[in-house]
Amino acid sequence: MTHWGNLSINEKGHLILGGCDAIDLAARFGTPLYVMEEDTIRGVCRGYVRAINGYPGGGKALFAGKAFLITAMCKIIESEGLGLDVVSGGELYVAMNAGFDLKNVYLHGNNKTPEDLRMAVKAGIGRIVIDSANEIGLLAGIAKELGRIQDVSVRIKPGIEAHTHEYIKTGQVDSKFGFGIGDGQGMRAVRDILAQPSLSLIGLHCHIGSQIFELQPFRDAVDVMLNYMLKVEQETGFVFSEINFGGGYGIHYTAEDAPLRPDEYVKTMLDELTALCNKKGVTPPFFVIEPGRSIVGEAGTTLYTVGDIKTIPDIRTYVSVDGSMADNPRPALYQAVYTCALAGKMDAPEETVVSIAGRTCESGDMLIWNAKLPETQAGDVLAVFSTGAYNYSMASNYNKLPHPAVVLVKDGRAELMVKRQSYDDLIKNDVIPSWL
Ligand SMILES: *Cc1c(COP(=O)(O)O)cnc(C)c1O
Repeated sequence: MTHWGNLSINEKGHLILGGCDAIDLAARFGTPLYVMEEDTIRGVCRGYVRAINGYPGGGKALFAGKAFLITAMCKIIESEGLGLDVVSGGELYVAMNAGFDLKNVYLHGNNKTPEDLRMAVKAGIGRIVIDSANEIGLLAGIAKELGRIQDVSVRIKPGIEAHTHEYIKTGQVDSKFGFGIGDGQGMRAVRDILAQPSLSLIGLHCHIGSQIFELQPFRDAVDVMLNYMLKVEQETGFVFSEINFGGGYGIHYTAEDAPLRPDEYVKTMLDELTALCNKKGVTPPFFVIEPGRSIVGEAGTTLYTVGDIKTIPDIRTYVSVDGSMADNPRPALYQAVYTCALAGKMDAPEETVVSIAGRTCESGDMLIWNAKLPETQAGDVLAVFSTGAYNYSMASNYNKLPHPAVVLVKDGRAELMVKRQSYDDLIKNDVIPSWL
């Protein structure tokens, strides 16, 4: 295994996470287990806050909740001064239940339901990011009925092609998200929103994709958005006071990945924005970003217990673990690649190449192909790194596998943030029709 950072290893040759021995964590909480390192999460949050401080227009980082939204996470990010992005009534409910300041919550989505919109307006959510023509009238009607004036942003497609997987690209013209700018749909949306007395237009929004390593697409986004802001002013007289650039900053999944530090992306964007504003003589708009993956991704490690090992002579060795695509669907969904190690044999030479199989009834349920590991035996604890984003939040109960527990670790302490699902949890919503 080649890891990209400095892993902590104790005198027993065990992996240390947040000051805790990973083998002890596995024994105490069971496997599969999601482990989240609090200091890593807070460190990234602070990097973003620091990078934005000092920008003359002011700004804010929002955590894109869809990456990993649970009640305890709301507490961590709020204490770091970040806001929150939600994309459904369910995510909004988590934030409300956590007592999160709803003024700092933004609602996204390409097909928000009338119920989502009503819940958000009623709750006094900070922004609703309008994504379609139909939503303008729908939201305006709901806000009017509730006697509110709702602050909104409008999402546009900046037409930027970021080099990332097809399914996590979002800024291109052929996308289900947002309004086009070349085709006049964005401008029409702006006029329609301005014509609604129950909506107050504040911001312009885009999100160009996810797991992006290059700086150029982010610089391009700054140029496109600022120029569009000026175009809207020219054509309608309206001036956006806030530009939201979404998330998308890449992280390490393997040693080959080469992301910059999260705050370096932000600094580059702010330098570009400041320079452009100076050049055009405009007041710098309030700057918003919505990182998700980069805040929690590298903070997470999943611990599994190795079960059956099957060697097919001259072909491959399958090492099966007690987890699967149910706790990490990303490899099956978009060929995501991960790095792993044996948590109890961190000092042992990596002499074998094996493939890590999940336990569900799908041949495609492979967590890692061709991983280099020490001699592996049943009962070993396998650690898969960088599982903090889009693992727990995308988990399913396929094959009726309960969701693993989630543990927070810091300074040698470990406590649950989410309990492991029980078998009772798996059937608690089952009901039997009367004729059976
Ligand atoms: C997914 C998403 C994000 C976060 O993306 P990451 O790649 O996880 O940083 C931010 N904003 C919007 C609108 C999104 O859909």
